[in-house]
Amino acid sequence: MIVLKFGGTSVGTVENMRKVADIVRNTCGMRIVVLSAMSGVTNSLQRIIDLIELDKMNDAKIEIENLNKKYQHTVYDLFGSGNRFKEASLRISYFNNVLLSFSDKDYSDQLVREILAQGELVSTYLFQILLEENQENSKLVSALDFMRIDSSGEPVLDHIGDNLLAILQNNNVDVFITQGFICRNSNSDIDNLKRGGSDYTASLIGAALAVDEIQIWTDIDGMHNNDPRFVENTFSIEEISFDEAAELAYFGAKILHPQSIIPAKEKNIPVLVKNTFNPESPGTLIHDKAKVKKIRAIAAKDSITAIKIKSYRMLMAYGFLMKIFEVFEKNETAIDMITTSEVAVSLTIDNTEKLDRIIDELQSFGNIEVETDLSIICIAGDLAQNKKGVTSAIFNCIDQIPIRMISYGGSNYNLSFLVKTADKISVLNLLNDGLFSDLKKAESKKELV
Ligand code: ASP
Ligand code: MG
Repeated sequence: MIVLKFGGTSVGTVENMRKVADIVRNTCGMRIVVLSAMSGVTNSLQRIIDLIELDKMNDAKIEIENLNKKYQHTVYDLFGSGNRFKEASLRISYFNNVLLSFSDKDYSDQLVREILAQGELVSTYLFQILLEENQENSKLVSALDFMRIDSSGEPVLDHIGDNLLAILQNNNVDVFITQGFICRNSNSDIDNLKRGGSDYTASLIGAALAVDEIQIWTDIDGMHNNDPRFVENTFSIEEISFDEAAELAYFGAKILHPQSIIPAKEKNIPVLVKNTFNPESPGTLIHDKAKVKKIRAIAAKDSITAIKIKSYRMLMAYGFLMKIFEVFEKNETAIDMITTSEVAVSLTIDNTEKLDRIIDELQSFGNIEVETDLSIICIAGDLAQNKKGVTSAIFNCIDQIPIRMISYGGSNYNLSFLVKTADKISVLNLLNDGLFSDLKKAESKKELV
């Protein structure tokens, strides 16, 4: 059994949906197809939510009407006219009425979740009727019937597996279509796996059913060795380990939702990242047998804020770090990177919503300095401490660039450092030129062990 997940661009137009249908048709065996909302739709739903919150009902209705027009065009592109068109168009009007009815309700967290769920419900409906039109033997399964999170927002894998399996066993078809992103929570209310969560859906289904492979179909030829938006001559990585992929996903390689690696890694299910618009390209295979590589890839994460806490009371004291971390925990702010000296701690955050309060509370520990507009550069590869020459190869490339923090040794697969965002593009390019050509040369001469 294989899970195939297609992102928003892949189902963004009828033309693209037909490409998806071809890919699904050309895949053998039992298939579970997970779809995102059509591209732009979840953002549009979020705008509707924001307008409802601001009580701008007329503007919300205009946004709903725009969405309706987009869907009706899609149905027209699918069927032209005729009975099938009428049937699908009616169904789309029903979805439109559901959205309109939301705009009459009072704003609440639950309303937000229900509105956000509408994108995937429509894209899967449209894709299913496209398959039906092609006489494909397939079945649309609602993720709301099996995908579940508990009261702390964690997926309930047993529930997901048992319920989905029962649905699969009751239907004699080879292709099942379902929604990414949406689920039910511990109150059985409609909820979601957070923005970008369709990858996570695919991985959770894959893990719950112990499938042979999870395929993530996107609009780029797999994961790249560097950020193609800022660096020329990047290339797609043939294979990568789960650990390296997890480091990269977190540090801004936006191809995969960071959490989506975890269920696949835990159940050791290979994840293949492929391009819907270039299916011949081999893509990137994430698995536990990836051949070791000194430097696999580079990624950057922007909008980082560094906080330095300097205190002579820290010298030889214990419990100091715990007290600092408590401030961040209380303010529900995740720390990304941390470095310590005997009398100071520097750490970084990317969510600055509670920054003022955090700084206020840290004042009692010592002198606080805050620096904004920073970027973390992450290098993933086989960077264990016994690998000679890799750290010097990295820093030699960027010896002209001021570095604010360095983190190495946290895992065997990552070296990260912090630079001014203004220097990011130069850093990515210098590393690309230096590491991917020099390391290749050195590797062939067996200089690096
Ligand atoms: N449609 C949702 C979003 O845009 C989930 C996803 O596409 O992964 O965030
Ligand atoms: Mg995505």
